[in-house]
Amino acid sequence: MAEQFDVVVIGAGPAGYHAAIRAAQLGLKTACIDAALGKDGKPALGGTCLRVGCIPSKALLDSSRQYWNMGHIFDQHGISFNDAKIDVTKMVGRKDAIVKQFTGGIAQLFKANKVATYYGFGQLQAGNVVKVKQHDGSEVELKGTNVIIAAGSDSIELPFAKFDGKHIVDNVGALDFTEVPKRLAVIGAGVIGLELGSVWKRLGSDVTILEALPDFLAAADAEVAKVAAKEFKKQGLNILLNAKVSKTEIKGEEVIVSYTDAEGEKSLTVDKLLVAVGRRAASKGLLADGTGVQINERGQIVVDDHCHTGVDGVWAVGDCVRGPMLAHKGFEEGVAVAELIAGLPGHVNFDTIPWVIYTEPELAWVGKTEAQLKAEGIPYKAGSFPFAANGRAVAMVEPAGFVKVLAHAETDRVLGMHLVGANVSELVHEGVLTMEFSGSSDDLARICHAHPSLSEAVHDAAMAVTKRAIHKAN
Ligand SMILES: Cc1cc2nc3c(=O)[nH]c(=O)nc-3n(C[C@H](O)[C@H](O)[C@H](O)COP(=O)(O)OP(=O)(O)OC[C@H]3O[C@@H](n4cnc5c(N)ncnc54)[C@H](O)[C@@H]3O)c2cc1C
Repeated sequence: MAEQFDVVVIGAGPAGYHAAIRAAQLGLKTACIDAALGKDGKPALGGTCLRVGCIPSKALLDSSRQYWNMGHIFDQHGISFNDAKIDVTKMVGRKDAIVKQFTGGIAQLFKANKVATYYGFGQLQAGNVVKVKQHDGSEVELKGTNVIIAAGSDSIELPFAKFDGKHIVDNVGALDFTEVPKRLAVIGAGVIGLELGSVWKRLGSDVTILEALPDFLAAADAEVAKVAAKEFKKQGLNILLNAKVSKTEIKGEEVIVSYTDAEGEKSLTVDKLLVAVGRRAASKGLLADGTGVQINERGQIVVDDHCHTGVDGVWAVGDCVRGPMLAHKGFEEGVAVAELIAGLPGHVNFDTIPWVIYTEPELAWVGKTEAQLKAEGIPYKAGSFPFAANGRAVAMVEPAGFVKVLAHAETDRVLGMHLVGANVSELVHEGVLTMEFSGSSDDLARICHAHPSLSEAVHDAAMAVTKRAIHKAN
């Protein structure tokens, strides 16, 4: 006999744990099931994000950045030292401790919110029953008045570059190298490829990123992408565009990567190959026959604007449905669905979801790019401000990059904000807030910003929209 819950959530990643905790807060009897195990072989909640994604990658980005700064920035501050060394085991150990702290934190939050937690693989049956194969081999059945599927995503594997966990890896392997690879190739110049490529480059690896597309970071504002490409080149990241990998071969301890570019066929020999060509919704084995839930050709669970699958009481959120594969997009969907189930007006505004790439410099944006506004025939004004003219950025030896504000030419409503530079992962939220409140560039320009701060670049960029920036010629 299945135990009855108001809400059963499959998956305890960002989307699932937000849904479960919010549902429990709203007084709904809630269960959450997760199949994942941590590096120690014990159950670990928090999904890709906490185990092998957002948090561990940022831990390594921060460690490697400190190391890089020693060799490249400290000197300008008048700091010298002898014999800088990196202990990769210790660095990865620090990352693992952070992961353990946060995955354990979700278990504690579930306990505090009385979310019943099941460790194992959940499969949805017809009639909103979820069959759970637990790690000890036992099976339980949970019946939910509502079931929220939050199964997340897995790395896409290329048929000619199969993961062997040692020489050819995905993000999981690249977060756990035991030493700095002398030569690292990365397939894919997207967020994951750039972030993890940066980690190992900063630690001394010779990194080549192969990107099949002709444009670098096509989703970003063109000027932002241009500055980023220039800075990455200065750092020695070798990014090859139009480079289509067709074959890989492991020979001894080396990987030979064959690719074609405009000049013809070429090959590259490396010690490690990271495949970062995107992620695919994790819907395999999730649905028994007869549930009525639809899966599209990309493996995503089909949902409407409110994350409803069309089957009574069955919802899906996060990476396993349409939309950007971002943790915070999953957070918002999880909360919105829990609120809709509780009869509240849950809603996600897809127009104000921020994007961030945590390289050096960081890239961040929200809303439309200039190219999108032009394509849609929306009249706009742009104002930008360089960090080279911002006192705080220069004091930090972080002069690269700029902030650009795009506002409607007639109403002045902010339509987008695009940033590249230090800490722009934090600054982009000025754009998010302004857009959420339907604010104008004039609103932003009239808000007092602390001096000296990086945020003054946002202020000046907003003022530049109407050609009244104080710290640059308009
Ligand atoms: C290297 C890397 C860096 C990233 N950095 C960022 C970043 O900086 N910012 C950002 O916003 N996003 C980042 N992402 C993306 C982010 O991790 C994902 O968007 C996010 O984790 C998706 O959340 P989710 O809850 O939908 O799925 P997931 O986090 O994938 O969680 C799904 C969970 O469901 C479990 N599960 C799946 N199927 C079942 C089943 N049938 N039964 C039981 N359990 C199941 C899985 O084990 C998993 O724990 C990064 C991703 C990677 C790989």
